[in-house]
Amino acid sequence: MKAMLLEKQEKIEKKPLKYVNVKTEDISEGQILVKVLANGVCHSDLHIVEGDFPLPASLFPLIPGHEIVGEVVESKSEIEKGTRVGIGWFYNACGKCDQCISGHENLCPNALVTGINVRGGYAEYAALDANYVTAIPDSIGDIEAAPLFCAGITAYSAVKKINPSVNDRIAVFGIGGLAFYAIQMIEAMGAKAVAVTRSHAKVAEEAGASEITHKPQGQYDGSIVFAPNPELVKDAVSTVRSGKTVVIPAVMDRIEIPFSSFTWEKNITSVASGLRKETRAVLDMADSAGIKSMVHKRTLSEANEVLSELKKGQIMGRAVLVP
Ligand SMILES: [Zn+2]
Ligand SMILES: [Zn+2]
Repeated sequence: MKAMLLEKQEKIEKKPLKYVNVKTEDISEGQILVKVLANGVCHSDLHIVEGDFPLPASLFPLIPGHEIVGEVVESKSEIEKGTRVGIGWFYNACGKCDQCISGHENLCPNALVTGINVRGGYAEYAALDANYVTAIPDSIGDIEAAPLFCAGITAYSAVKKINPSVNDRIAVFGIGGLAFYAIQMIEAMGAKAVAVTRSHAKVAEEAGASEITHKPQGQYDGSIVFAPNPELVKDAVSTVRSGKTVVIPAVMDRIEIPFSSFTWEKNITSVASGLRKETRAVLDMADSAGIKSMVHKRTLSEANEVLSELKKGQIMGRAVLVP
């Protein structure tokens, strides 16, 4: 099969992903082989390729990609051939540790990551664990479904941490592909999304935000910060009501918050998305509420160029690779 292979971590300008032929993996008991129909390009892929996430040499060469949508072409499980399934960042978990047993499989210390520990979706085929994939409703196209498996789930996990009630006003900072999902999800739950943005009002409008503002005003019933900007965290904490939650899915080196803005039981949390039940909930919601994805179709062999554009901030929404 054709795949974009990463032999070592290097700056994307050097085009480190090579379009080569590799042997398609044999599957073992409990696994399925899928023909990859689409694979979304996540910002984490750039970190993996460029070495911002240091990885041991034993993992190379690796095939990145953790927003896989594929059709089952071989099965050593109960899943039938022809079924359309997807997988995200978490390939599988051990199922035995305290985290797994208590329903927090996304926090399992033995979890494997798709596109790091096992071959990912920058390829024509992928071998997946039948127990951890999720079937995709017919109403969602391949290209639209792919980003739901990481971007969509991350947005959903963030919104669920707030668990908005009807008419709650939830501030969303950092408008891009993830916020595009979060705004739609907040509105679908009957709450009001307040998009805080200077430059992406159009995206917020298209997502259906109840309010769009240049800077946060008043007090919110919850906030989500999607952009890796510590100043936005300060704004979010100072404008969230006491007892409410600020969720930070963005990755930042450091955040500093004046304690005075944090008093009276405000919660701050990050997100480790990937629970199977959340993945199912995201797909159900996309099916029933018609959650839209902001996607651009590209070909697999263009992965270096796509990642380079992503690095330069030239991609709004999600680029999705098709073999
Ligand atoms: Zn991702
Ligand atoms: Zn576990």
